[in-house]
Amino acid sequence: MLLGIEGLAVASVGLEDDGARVVEVVTDEETAAACPECGVLSTSVKERATTRRRDLPYGVAPIRLVWHKTRWRCRETRCPRGSFTESLPSVPARSRLTTRLRSECGERIATDASCVQAAAARYRVSWPVAHAAFVAHVDAELAAPLPPVEVLGIDETRRGKPVWAQDPDTCRWHLVADRWLTGIVDAAGTGGLLGHVDGRTAEVVADWLRDQPQAWLDGVTHVCIDLSGSYAKAVADALPGRGPGRRPVPPGPSGQRHGHRGAAARHPRAPRPPRPEEGPRVGLPASAAHRA
Ligand SMILES: [Zn+2]
Repeated sequence: MLLGIEGLAVASVGLEDDGARVVEVVTDEETAAACPECGVLSTSVKERATTRRRDLPYGVAPIRLVWHKTRWRCRETRCPRGSFTESLPSVPARSRLTTRLRSECGERIATDASCVQAAAARYRVSWPVAHAAFVAHVDAELAAPLPPVEVLGIDETRRGKPVWAQDPDTCRWHLVADRWLTGIVDAAGTGGLLGHVDGRTAEVVADWLRDQPQAWLDGVTHVCIDLSGSYAKAVADALPGRGPGRRPVPPGPSGQRHGHRGAAARHPRAPRPPRPEEGPRVGLPASAAHRA
């Protein structure tokens, strides 16, 4: 009860040099002695084992669990499992974290606009562990159906800097990589970001739209875009009758008639090549000034 982890009871608490609390726990759940293969409870102890887990911090101090658990023999003659170690849903096998630490880490990254690195530092886990916890948290939400949307907003975001390289023979600069994402949002409601697709072509946006249920598409009455011909084509292909020019496009949340970005006419102009004085660097911030 003190610890609040179902199936574990606190035996003692100590302090380590770095201020961490070391909580020695024992199993307090009868079903932990049930064979995971056949489900029969065992009373035959094979050996005792100790495993360590990290748990949610207590205030600023980390908590380290030391779990004294039992390895049982399965005596069922028809069961192929010779022995097994206790495990609990709250402290799964082969994990160095408690379930609640993993869940909170993933949730904080998703809901507090915290970056993976910050959460990894706070919960004292590695970046890959924090990222996996975040993915597990959002996967469940992404599987949920989209909220009903009447006004769809579509706009692009540059992903990273454009990368330029100079041809050693002609000295001419050419674009090596220029990546974009398209964000699709609920432009008049509270649905927020509905989807992100790689690229900004008519095809990728139309594909995303066609992947949505027809009943959801039928609820979209207007689409809010800038002067992008690609997005206009995507809407004409996948949402006939709701593209610009066919019906009035209402102002977006910021009151701009053509979406939230001011100088829409710049799209889809390619980024400019580097000026000579900028030297032969790769990945020049060609349009960084425009994006401020
Ligand atoms: Zn068994």
